[in-house]
Amino acid sequence: MNNRTPLIAGNWKMFKTGIEAVKTAARLVKLVAGTTDIDVMIAPPFTALAPVSDIVRGSCVSLGAQNLFWEAQGAFTGEISPVMLVSAGCKYVIIGHSERRQYFNETDETVNKRMQAAVNNDLIPVMCVGESEKERESKDTFSILDKQVKKGLEGFSSDDLERLVIAYEPVWAIGTGKTATSHQAQEVHQFLRSVLEKNFGNMLAKSIRILYGGSVKPNNIAELMTMPDVDGALVGGASLDPEIFSKIVQFKK
Ligand code: PEP
Repeated sequence: MNNRTPLIAGNWKMFKTGIEAVKTAARLVKLVAGTTDIDVMIAPPFTALAPVSDIVRGSCVSLGAQNLFWEAQGAFTGEISPVMLVSAGCKYVIIGHSERRQYFNETDETVNKRMQAAVNNDLIPVMCVGESEKERESKDTFSILDKQVKKGLEGFSSDDLERLVIAYEPVWAIGTGKTATSHQAQEVHQFLRSVLEKNFGNMLAKSIRILYGGSVKPNNIAELMTMPDVDGALVGGASLDPEIFSKIVQFKK
């Protein structure tokens, strides 16, 4: 047993207009009302953050963003700052998602800058790490993850990282329908916790939530959650439908 509160987070990616997002969030709030032993977060697109914030206020659902830029303001066309996310009602921010690494030149260095901006602005960072299929096949999974965690968290002290969440998302399992087995997930989560322990000490390593992400669905969440180092899930596709996502949140029922 540990005292980490599980977190089930939904990444809506580039789906839903403002109106669609409000409807989905309102339905979700109803479906998961009364959830007390699990934290729930949804990350709609930027344009829906403010209206969805009004819907989830006072409920057990928290708001997150899918990315941020590290400057507070300035001539950075197309970017969004941590201050703006906080004022739109965000509590969490996803950082370094594999789609950003793959399509938008995100690197471990820019992940680190975004991490600093999140922590300095009291946003809870959900830092994504994960290996590609090729890296897994060539048995580089652990070295890749070690590097992603160390570089992403470079310059931080354990005090800075108390609220950190890590999401292990094997790239080969995202949106593909292929899920890591619960044992594959556990093996990696245990490794990630050992990397945290080596770099930030046992206390912090024990307290940090490590989520699994990659084709999580109502029919595989319960099994994943039996693993001692799996503390929740980052859910993409299955978070877009409130009926389905609520079943993942309520996996114990
Ligand atoms: C994700 O986008 O973080 C994700 C895990 O997607 P999916 O659940 O669709 O695989």
